[in-house]
Order: sequence, then structure tokens, then C-alpha cells
Amino acid sequence: MRNGTTHLFIPGPTNIPEAVRQAMNVPMQDMRAPDFGELTLPLFAGLKKVFKTDSRVFMFPGSGTGAWEAAISNTLNTGDKVLISRFGQFSHLWVDMCERLGLDVVSLDVEWGEGVPLEDYAKILEADTAHEIRAVFATQNETATGVTSDIAGVREVLDAAGHPALLFVDGVSSIASIDFRMDEWGVDLAVAGSQKGFMMPAGLSMLGVSEKAFEAHKSSRMARCYFSFEDMLKLNDDGYFPYTPPTQLFYGLRKSLELIEEEGLENVFARHNRLATGVRHAVAAWEGCRLCAAEPKWYSDTVSAIIVPEDVDAKDVLSIGYNKYRTSFGAGLARLAGRVFRIGHLGDLNEVMCLAALGSAEMALIEAGAKIELGSGVAAAQAHYTGVDHMALRLAAE
Ligand SMILES: *Cc1c(COP(=O)(O)O)cnc(C)c1O
Repeated sequence: MRNGTTHLFIPGPTNIPEAVRQAMNVPMQDMRAPDFGELTLPLFAGLKKVFKTDSRVFMFPGSGTGAWEAAISNTLNTGDKVLISRFGQFSHLWVDMCERLGLDVVSLDVEWGEGVPLEDYAKILEADTAHEIRAVFATQNETATGVTSDIAGVREVLDAAGHPALLFVDGVSSIASIDFRMDEWGVDLAVAGSQKGFMMPAGLSMLGVSEKAFEAHKSSRMARCYFSFEDMLKLNDDGYFPYTPPTQLFYGLRKSLELIEEEGLENVFARHNRLATGVRHAVAAWEGCRLCAAEPKWYSDTVSAIIVPEDVDAKDVLSIGYNKYRTSFGAGLARLAGRVFRIGHLGDLNEVMCLAALGSAEMALIEAGAKIELGSGVAAAQAHYTGVDHMALRLAAE
């Protein structure tokens, strides 16, 4: 029996609003037609608003990983020294890409559950008086651990050291969901993907590029072809692409940008914070469970990675959730496999959807052997969402 709806609470791909799905249901059209720019040019403008930049945002057909590669291969040179830190599977994969593309990588290993180590970055950048480090990398939201880092802080550290390195930011699971300010924070390369905060299918990798990054591009000789800025620059200003673009995704993006604009970007951020706080209250109410994020300053408003009690296998929580309650949670990745399950709470989401996720998680946790109280997390989240202190009311009535 497959009654009712299935529930998707992974941190990407996220739920697609019905309006976005409908918007993509259009016949194919000529991507060289004289009026194609009427569809694409407003998308570039809309993305610049979301990235908060006056510079440029590219759209490459591809997933977020494609924009990682575009950013590196268009602005750096083989053998360039770069500073990066890893504290989860996604920042780890970015380090791996840097190494495979032939960069000279200074990689700081940080406890999984913490984020970009600002003091260490400061020490290294201050000591680098010859300015050998060409780029500094920061994953704004580590999706594997539910940790958000302080990107404005990275900018401060660079400025305090008077260091000219480019600033690369992975914003795949943060841009369009939590505060991101490309220009104000002096971000030079900002990476995003369509299937997370943009509430779309995978297939568009977005890359914000600053003026300074375009300067660096002039002396970048790394091999590139599909992801080259040059080919895009020749055509993008008229709304065209150097190869067949995913037209249906553009229609989806047009609708999703419209929805974001209608709600207001700052309201989108506030909603993500409110929903995430409810989920965190729920986790706090579950005996023996805790967040992977080590301290409140690291808490992510787009994903919660939840460490299960010692005697529980998080893989059981995932399989019971999926098989019995038709709920997908995010798996614990790499070293967190079996220890963690994740609730993605980003994109097209509201309070009741979060309560459904928490209710389902409670049943799966209990059946997997956790000694939590049924309803405890749901009640804690409800208390947060309503803003009413139910316990105080009850005590007052007694
Ligand atoms: C999802 C994600 C990626 C990878 O994106 P793909 O679209 O799967 O290529 C990179 N970084 C972060 C932080 C992510 O959440």
C-alpha cells in the first residue's frame, strides 16, 4: 500500500513547489531564437539579487560540483597555494578537488561539528607576508554536519592581515536560504546549486564571480573547456549560451526566483531560522540525542545532523523511516555513517512539514531502540512554532 504522500527531508534535492514544477512543463523551444534572452536575462538579474552582488553570476549546466570546478579552473594556476579547511564530507570533497586539479593545498583538519577555524586562518595569513597563498576557501554551510561558518569573519581575517588572496565560498546549501552577501563580504567566487535553497531539480550550477576574480582570470592558465568563463562571456550578455542550455530549468528558476522575491529574501531567512529552531528544540527534547554541531554558533538553519544514542544504529532510523513511514532523512556521511541521521529543513517548507518530519523521526528512533518519549520533540517544536508556553499555561491553570 502506498497511500498518501511520501516525505522528503534530505538537505537536497529539496521539495519542489508545485508552481515551479508546473512552470517547467513547457514545450521545447529554440535556444537561438531572437527572443531567447527575454527568458534568460532576467534570471541573471534575479540571481545577482539573491547573491547580493553587482558583478556577475554564471549558470553552468551541472550540479554544484561543476561550479566548484569552474571557480578553480578559471581563476587559479596549477601549483598555486590555497588555504582550505575540512570538517565534513562536502568540505572534504572540495579539498579533494583542489588536490586533483593540481593546487598546492594547505588543508586544515577541523573536528567534524565545528566550522572554518578563523584563528588558524588568521595566523597562517598573517605569517604569509610574501602572499604565496592565492586563494582562501570556506564552506559556508557544511551539509554533512549541519554547521554554518562565519564568512564575514573570514573576510575580516583577510583584511586584518592585509592579504590579497581570493575568497572562495561554497554556498550550495546556504545561498537563498541563509544570510549571504557576496559583495559586502568580499566573496570572489560564490558557488550555488539549483536543487537546494532554489527549490529546483539538480542541473544548474551557479557561480558568482567578483571583479577581482575576473582580474585573476586574466592570468589563469589552468586547462578548462566546458566550464570556461570566456565562452560564457561571449554570449551571456545577449542571453545565449555556448552549448545547449537546460531551458526547462530556466523556466523553473524564473518561478522560484519569483517565489523568493514575493516572500522576500530576508523573510526566507527568518522562516528557515524559525523552522530550524523548532527542530533543534525537538532534538534537545530527545533523550540521548544531540546535534553534531558542537556549539550554538555553528548551528545550521538548513540542515540538522543528529547524533543518535550510542546503542542505536542511525542506519536503522533511516531504513525504518524510509520503508515504514515513507520518509527520507539524510544519511550520516563517511565517518558519521551509522552515528548520524540528518533532517534537511530548507527550501519549500513550513511548520507542519517540520512536525511531520519530527513525528516520523520519533517513531523511527523508538523502533530503532532509542529511549525517547513519543511526542516529546514534536511538542517542543510546536511550543516554539506557536510561541505559546504551554507548560506555564498548564501550571497556572492547576
Ligand atoms: C550538495 C552540496 C555540494 C555538492 O553539490 P552537487 O550539486 O551534489 O554537486 C557541495 N557543497 C555543499 C555544501 C553541498 O551541500
